Amino acid sequence: MRNVVIMGSGCAGLTAAIYAARANLQPLVIRGAHAGGQLTLTTLVENYPGFPKGVQGPELIELMQKQATEFGTEFVEGNVTKVDLSRRPFVLEVHQERVETRTLIIASGASAKMLGLESERKLLGHGVSTCATCDGYFFRGKEVVVVGGGDTAAEDALFLTRYAKEVSIVHRREQLRASKIMQDRLHRNEKIKFIWNSVVDDIVDADKREVSGIKLRNVKTKEEALKPVDGVFIGIGHEPNTSLFRGQLDVDDLGYLVTHEGSKTKIPGVFAAGDVKDRVYRQAITAAGSGCMAAMDAEKFLEAEH
Ligand code: NAP
Repeated sequence: MRNVVIMGSGCAGLTAAIYAARANLQPLVIRGAHAGGQLTLTTLVENYPGFPKGVQGPELIELMQKQATEFGTEFVEGNVTKVDLSRRPFVLEVHQERVETRTLIIASGASAKMLGLESERKLLGHGVSTCATCDGYFFRGKEVVVVGGGDTAAEDALFLTRYAKEVSIVHRREQLRASKIMQDRLHRNEKIKFIWNSVVDDIVDADKREVSGIKLRNVKTKEEALKPVDGVFIGIGHEPNTSLFRGQLDVDDLGYLVTHEGSKTKIPGVFAAGDVKDRVYRQAITAAGSGCMAAMDAEKFLEAEH
């Protein structure tokens, strides 16, 4: 029987582990399918406090993991395949093994939606990015495209104009989904161009491990074109990893876990932290902060029980 099980090993999960371990709760972290979370997909992180020269995303995660281990956190590889929150202790299944726990911290994160191209997968971190605030800086004076037509794409495109020479928004329709205010900002910005009714069929050049262009197809005219670009930002939204909890916990209209009074979910003893419950900020530092909150809430909950 565990005191605290933490699902997810990104920034939120590891911070929760550090706090829970320091509170002598011997937490167990189930790493999840994407161990280390979204930070492991980035390169230099320059906005995490305490690193004036920046820190590589994977290194930051490694340091957090070391810190969590130092205080007695246990880690298990793999993914939770089943969760039963209908009774206490809560029961999780990991690789057909049963784990019982008094409290659960859900830090399973959100995954950026991808186009699903093989080249996109191969070039992720090598010119393809899902995070403009993380990687925009590397495209100073370059030409980039942002795929998507919602607020994420709009925000990414506007952010990228700080660095890039030209930012083209590739959208599959001819009308943006983004809010009016964001649309106005896009249209006012001279660096931003629009490629309407178009989809990206391929990103070149996966073999060279660098982006040199995209193959575009106009969905109306069926016309195909190769556009030379240096970077591709995928801004078609994020999906919180909450499928295991559907029907057990409340989720909002976008599927994010709903919390109240900090990290509490509607089931006492179940807490949520990080991007799985954050549709707004989605930053490493906010995820870490909410991981801390969840561990403190779990500790208080356990204290009150005994
Ligand atoms: P979104 O509103 O769902 O927009 C996703 C966009 O990507 C849509 O334009 C969609 O096209 C396109 N898209 C989806 N799948 C695609 C695919 N496979 N290939 C090509 N294009 C694809 O997602 P979001 O922009 O992340 O926004 C999510 C929520 O967060 C929204 O409520 C948004 O307002 C909010 N948000 C707010 C802010 C802000 O206020 N500053 C910033 C970010 C997000 P279609 O339009 O054709 O469906």
